[in-house]
Amino acid sequence: MDLKSYIRVIEDFPQPGVRFKDITTILKDGAVYRAAIEQLKQTIQHLQIDIIAGPEARGFVIGAPLALELGVGFVPIRKKGKLPGETITADYNLEYGADVLAMHKDAIQPGQRVLIADDLLATGGTIATSIDLVRQLGGEIVGAVFLIELSYLHGRDKLDNVELYSLVTY
Ligand code: 5GP
Repeated sequence: MDLKSYIRVIEDFPQPGVRFKDITTILKDGAVYRAAIEQLKQTIQHLQIDIIAGPEARGFVIGAPLALELGVGFVPIRKKGKLPGETITADYNLEYGADVLAMHKDAIQPGQRVLIADDLLATGGTIATSIDLVRQLGGEIVGAVFLIELSYLHGRDKLDNVELYSLVTY
């Protein structure tokens, strides 16, 4: 299935000049959503994975079904202040200002092999911060997987010691 044809590009969102890649047009179609998760599963089938971690919110809709398919658990990475238990945090530098991502302290055991999943790789900031959190807990990053990669933003260069897999490139 040609997933790219199901991605809707919205001009000037969230700000002028940005061409936002909208994946809700994949998610709302059961067959297309399933095909996307199936393609991701095939892309990473050679990896040994103990657990998947995904940043809110679209990392959940990619990471959780992939975890179910693989028969492994899923760990949410959230904005600071959203998780109820004890957390660890990592700073995340945005174009304007900064944000903080958090993960439960007991979410990952030392030595567990962790795959990061998100909908889209842009500048790589979200994933670099997610990797930082997993490594703080002693997890081993086996790779990161995305539906979409915006190659013109060079997120890969920021993550050059991590195996990155994406299905659709712009
Ligand atoms: P980065 O941190 O790599 O610059 O940005 C990636 C994060 O921002 C991802 O969590 C992703 O959900 C969100 N994001 C940035 N641009 C887009 C876009 O065009 N489409 C979608 N669906 N998400 C985006």
